[in-house]
Amino acid sequence: MLLLVLNNFSAMETEGIVIRIKTPGGDMDSSVDSPSLLSFNDLLVAIREVMPEATITAFEYEDEVGDRITVRSDEELKAMMSYYYSTVMDQRMNGLLPEPLHIFPRAGKTPGIRNIHGLKVNTRPGSAQNCTQVPAPAPAPAEILPNNSLKKSSAELKKILTNGQINEQDIRYEELLGHGNGGTVYKAYHLLGKRVLAVKVIPLDITVELQKQIMSELEILYKCDSPYIITFYSAFFVENRISICTEFMDGGSLDVYRRIPEHVLGRIAVAVVKGLTYLWSLKILHRDVKPSNMLVNTRGQVKLCDFGVSTQLVNSIAKTYVGTNAYMAPERISGEQYGIHSDVWSVGISFMELALGNFPYPQIQKNQGSFMPLQLLQCIVDEDPPVLPVGQFSETFIHFITQCMRKLPKERPAPNDLMGHPFIVQYNDGSVEVVSMWVCRSLEERRAQQQHPPTQCPM
Ligand code: ATP
Ligand code: MG
Repeated sequence: MLLLVLNNFSAMETEGIVIRIKTPGGDMDSSVDSPSLLSFNDLLVAIREVMPEATITAFEYEDEVGDRITVRSDEELKAMMSYYYSTVMDQRMNGLLPEPLHIFPRAGKTPGIRNIHGLKVNTRPGSAQNCTQVPAPAPAPAEILPNNSLKKSSAELKKILTNGQINEQDIRYEELLGHGNGGTVYKAYHLLGKRVLAVKVIPLDITVELQKQIMSELEILYKCDSPYIITFYSAFFVENRISICTEFMDGGSLDVYRRIPEHVLGRIAVAVVKGLTYLWSLKILHRDVKPSNMLVNTRGQVKLCDFGVSTQLVNSIAKTYVGTNAYMAPERISGEQYGIHSDVWSVGISFMELALGNFPYPQIQKNQGSFMPLQLLQCIVDEDPPVLPVGQFSETFIHFITQCMRKLPKERPAPNDLMGHPFIVQYNDGSVEVVSMWVCRSLEERRAQQQHPPTQCPM
């Protein structure tokens, strides 16, 4: 049993964790990719970076009864990590997602440290010793250059604390990826994190209070950890616009592919259903399932993006544009209650469009995006849902779409029924090669049309 726990602990040490530094000005989250490499000094430097005005000499964490325990050394940091891993295991065993590790910086009254006798010693080279203090021992080479060693560990820290906060000045914008109704998405490079990002910039004329509320609502994105959900790195406001930084997907969104073969769509559907099931397990409704919010890459991964975690953000964007989303379920178009089943409708209509190569309601022309006047979408409320043509598609696929697009929300499959549907079961084979090859081929065809050289694909 103990061995199992130890094994689990060492497995956890290779996973990333999120450390939440609780400062008087708010919380600052940092992802630590390799917690086993983290030292007490690393964390102290990180804290000093976010609280430069305070003299931080230690930090605290809370045990299960809320008592604060001070950390002042690598040994005490190890004890804190062991305690944290045990809480993470408990949370996982209870089906919960791990909470970030909360730490509370502790400011020292004077810039000094205590030696092993508990007496204060002055750490500034060349300054006079107080006669009541024990003379400081001759410093070891590393201690002679406290500033240099801090700088070095600060550089290392940047590698360890991979994202934390991303600032506009650290981002180099490279390419426009597309415009949506709310904002504009760019491919960009994060100079500090040394990675490619997708940055969605949304102009928002809102109060600072609302900005804060949006930022705190977006916090849940740090916790989203699924291979079927786009990874969220950071978000920040500059003047009257918010920038949301996420993982970049080199295959882009599915809306530009159209008419995808059924055996490829099957694998994509598995990923979409798994992504939604994950969100629903966190009590998050996607609310904007559509092909342009399903992203693919040349490795064959399929991930969902743009789900509505921030009510304030959704509301603020909604004020700046007019129109209704054509992928919305009939009950939503008529202004009724929205639930998981409405997401399921949107899955059905999206996959029907991707299979056919055009929007399933011929009377609805989506020339400019997916938002249009409500009256144009009335046919979705009034008419029987369309059905995929028999003969061109398999029976299981036709059944899957027909079930998702039942007019009555309650008749649509629930999350478990979706996962257990024969169409999903058939393609739930973990094969990413099919999607990868199809993405690569499609990108090459697109480039050939644009007379650009082909891309190197990983497979
Ligand atoms: P809406 O605003 O209604 O959601 P949309 O989804 O088409 O419409 P955006 O979300 O702004 O608009 O995205 C614009 C385009 O940017 C997408 O169609 C997609 O091609 C591209 N895009 C978005 N996120 C990423 C990403 N993480 N990686 C690569 N491309 C992306
Ligand atoms: Mg989108």
